[in-house]
Amino acid sequence: MADRIQLLPEHVANQIAAGEVVQRPASVVKELMENAIDAGADQIQLVVRDGGKALVQVVDNGAGMSPADARLSIQRHATSKIREAEDLFRIHTKGFRGEALASIAAIARLELQTRPGEADLGTHLKVSGGKELSVEETVAPKGTSISVKNLFFNIPARRNFLKSPRVEFRHVLDEFQRIALAHPEVGFSLHHDEAELYQLPASNLRKRIGHLFGNRMQDRLVPVEEDTQVVRVSGFVCKPEFARKSRGEQFFFVNSRFVKSSYLHHAVLNAFEGLLRPETVPGYFLFLEVPPESIDINIHPTKTEIKFEDEKTVYAILRSAIKHSLGQFSIRPVLDFDS
Ligand code: ADP
Ligand code: MG
Repeated sequence: MADRIQLLPEHVANQIAAGEVVQRPASVVKELMENAIDAGADQIQLVVRDGGKALVQVVDNGAGMSPADARLSIQRHATSKIREAEDLFRIHTKGFRGEALASIAAIARLELQTRPGEADLGTHLKVSGGKELSVEETVAPKGTSISVKNLFFNIPARRNFLKSPRVEFRHVLDEFQRIALAHPEVGFSLHHDEAELYQLPASNLRKRIGHLFGNRMQDRLVPVEEDTQVVRVSGFVCKPEFARKSRGEQFFFVNSRFVKSSYLHHAVLNAFEGLLRPETVPGYFLFLEVPPESIDINIHPTKTEIKFEDEKTVYAILRSAIKHSLGQFSIRPVLDFDS
């Protein structure tokens, strides 16, 4: 029988890998903003058109890239963040897979402009469907600007699968809020079509929550603090009387990374036991810090799920920290729900 196996060409492999990393414009927003944070930026601008279907652009004032790095950055498995597999357990950056830019470049038109602080001139790179179109020297501000146009232009089936600009923008906004909450020390702005939606000054968490969700929210916050060897817990829960039937502002961050966890959510509900009206869910903005080697964030390419070495202890500490805070602020159960 004749041999039939072939190695896929690089751009085909990239398109397939892109399916895992990039589901929709919001995925691009997440990857580009995380890269800007990793680059040490303290000002990050997000510009979006048509819910991100036409344009997602992130401009940062971070470290920038040399011309060679700029060209390498869009190659698969090209990363400045880890060198060997063991590094996965000491991660302090958001990225490490070296996949995001390669994936995005494979399925969109990507334009990158970048200049490190010490260089006089920057680099302007254009890529389409994974192919480099041009590289030029250019005058550019310090930092990096990446724009991603016409997502999935070369995969019509995926493009058709995208929802309306309104729905896609809702997802974009979710990602923006998560990153803005995780990094109150960084200034952010968000423009959608012609409108400026947010201009968030560098600040602290309480004020950032107020800027994002309204100043009234600030008065509803109860601080949570607990420091143990296994986990450090900080942040806020909302007073139980403001709990709502629909799920709204519930955020967990582990080592500054937004994560989804029904297990930890359960710990919060458990701490509020007896304080909530039936079927309501309290808001919370909770930050957990754990030693990087005690978690595995490599379970899924988008890294929103996480595995703790000792999840039962984390659960117990989180629950007791919240209980303690609610007690300290003398929040008492609503005894008679009907009156
Ligand atoms: P990862 O973040 O996993 O390393 P990416 O594909 O997201 O992979 O980025 C590849 C590399 O490109 C990064 O490791 C980094 O060196 C560089 N890079 C990407 N975005 C920026 C940026 N905004 N500023 C500076 N360097 C960047
Ligand atoms: Mg990245």
